[in-house]
Amino acid sequence: MAVLICSRNSGADNKYEGITAACDKKKKFRMKRGNELKELHSFAWYAARVRPYLPEKAFQPVPARLWGGLAYLVVVIAGILTISFTDFHFWLYTFIAFILGSSFAAMGFLGHEILHGTVVRKAWLRELTGGIAFFPLSTGPKLWTKWHNLTHHRHTQDEEKDPDAWPTVDQFSRSILVKYFYRLPISVRGMLEMAFLAITFSLHSLRMFKRFIKEFSKEKRPAVWLQLLLPRACWIGLLFLIGPLKWLFAFLIPLLIANFIVMAYIATNHRLNPLVPVNDPLANSLTVTVPKWVDVLHFHFSYHTEHHLFPGMSSKYYPLVKAELKKRWPERYHEMPLFKALAALYKTPRLYNNREELVDLEVRHRYGTLGHGLDPNQLKPLKERSPAKRSTRDRKV
Ligand SMILES: [Zn+2]
Ligand SMILES: [Zn+2]
Repeated sequence: MAVLICSRNSGADNKYEGITAACDKKKKFRMKRGNELKELHSFAWYAARVRPYLPEKAFQPVPARLWGGLAYLVVVIAGILTISFTDFHFWLYTFIAFILGSSFAAMGFLGHEILHGTVVRKAWLRELTGGIAFFPLSTGPKLWTKWHNLTHHRHTQDEEKDPDAWPTVDQFSRSILVKYFYRLPISVRGMLEMAFLAITFSLHSLRMFKRFIKEFSKEKRPAVWLQLLLPRACWIGLLFLIGPLKWLFAFLIPLLIANFIVMAYIATNHRLNPLVPVNDPLANSLTVTVPKWVDVLHFHFSYHTEHHLFPGMSSKYYPLVKAELKKRWPERYHEMPLFKALAALYKTPRLYNNREELVDLEVRHRYGTLGHGLDPNQLKPLKERSPAKRSTRDRKV
């Protein structure tokens, strides 16, 4: 492989103009990358500056959250029993299915919090209560901890390491299925992507199981398998107990609703943000806003930037963190109503052209990301640049 050597005084003396130009380009790229890195800060950097202004109790677990979980569990059991032991009534069953779906999702949000250790500290209790909370979504606590706590949180929006990051054009070129999908017009794709949210969490969970199971030690693998199979066996057992029609309303429709609710948050948490070389939560995360009563029902899951700063803090205290962030870094902080974020997802393509741009390969339109030209009030493609002005990091477009 040829190595390009750029001497410090190469500019005027260098007789090979091509090499000079390449060196200048390389220097500019280094400078740009340097500035980019300089502007980004790790979550620990922000946390160190905000922590002194938060009360000490904010860093203690809040076991009272389990009462909320118990209430949802009672609602779920009552709903399933009502469907199981009453005669079929379409509107009643539909109403119960909606309540069940909302409860499945809320239990998932609580499970997320429990497995971060912000509700109970003891490991076995954390895994037990987290497992119960994630039971409707059938995600095992050991898998979730590995996938979410140890990988997504550590490598948020890292194009290679974050299992939840959306693909880049380079990665996309490896998948035939995704390639065909991106040949559809953006409006059709947007609609399909919205509909797809109703199954995404369940499918992504299975993908994550396939990806991470090899990383567990041989001793731990049987437990991870058990946590995968046990909830699924129970839900399939329910199918045989109550029959397919009742099962549709007692489990399948609620599961689709729960998928949609959790994914409405998860999809907007990072997908409008840039990919980043430094795990900077103010750059790579979005906090969405929802009515206060929704925040109460969903355990403050909307505060995602705050969560990435302090994943070990009960979400009960995230409004305090938000106030501190907005006071210190208002120009860096991203927030918008959940529906606006979903509309932005619907109207923009989901492939990264480079770290800061999304691209629609079909019509060759580029869109910015949050902090890099994406205006959720005016979702328009970026203006085309002349080829000479294109960034060295642009790939296909
Ligand atoms: Zn996240
Ligand atoms: Zn988390």
